[in-house]
Amino acid sequence: MTNIILLGPPGAGKGTQARRLVEERGLVQLSTGDMLREARTSGTEMGKKVAAVMDRGDLVTDDIVIGLIEEKLKTARAKGFIFDGFPRTLAQADALGALLKRSGQELDAVIEMRVDDEALVDRISGRYTCGNCGEVYHDRTKPTAKPGVCDVCGSTDLRRRADDNAESLKQRLMEYYKKTSPLMGYYYAAGELFTVDGLADIDAVAKSIADVLDRAKGA
Ligand code: AMP
Repeated sequence: MTNIILLGPPGAGKGTQARRLVEERGLVQLSTGDMLREARTSGTEMGKKVAAVMDRGDLVTDDIVIGLIEEKLKTARAKGFIFDGFPRTLAQADALGALLKRSGQELDAVIEMRVDDEALVDRISGRYTCGNCGEVYHDRTKPTAKPGVCDVCGSTDLRRRADDNAESLKQRLMEYYKKTSPLMGYYYAAGELFTVDGLADIDAVAKSIADVLDRAKGA
């Protein structure tokens, strides 16, 4: 099993790199953000409850996201998991540790994707994704080859997230620094933290992550 956490502020590139790891290593991506957006789209009670919280840029409660992850770990069969956007609080980190331990698994690496705040604003404000296959694009740095059509699957369902605006981003960053950044110290102390330069281009970041995983496995 290879279990990895991708840690970093919104716009650091966690989702993009998680998708690479799925393709290249056959791991399963567990993105609590994606799960919550799915719950909203399908109109579940939980989806309705979290909608306003997400659009404001606040974190949803620990019990909701821990419940989502617990369910996936119980049902999904995988060579390993990439946790993308989870954990985001110390309580979630403790809960993940306990869940993995209970199923006889452990974390191989926690990868901090380091980027500066200026870059985040730029990345987030130009971001759009394919609603069908999840490919991530950017107005300036990675537009679709044909306007309005996904390069990967040909879908025309290209979407911008409701929380990818300046005001919500400010709140998401605030939440990140208040509640998520302490996880860096938490995982550093556990000897599991590796840092990569998230400002490099997508291939270079992927290479740094691959190097970390080889090192972590070899350790
Ligand atoms: P993301 O797609 O990871 O940027 O998440 C989008 C939004 O979903 C966040 O701004 C939160 O409102 C919510 N969310 C996603 N993951 C978590 C989590 N682990 N804990 C709390 N809220 C979360």
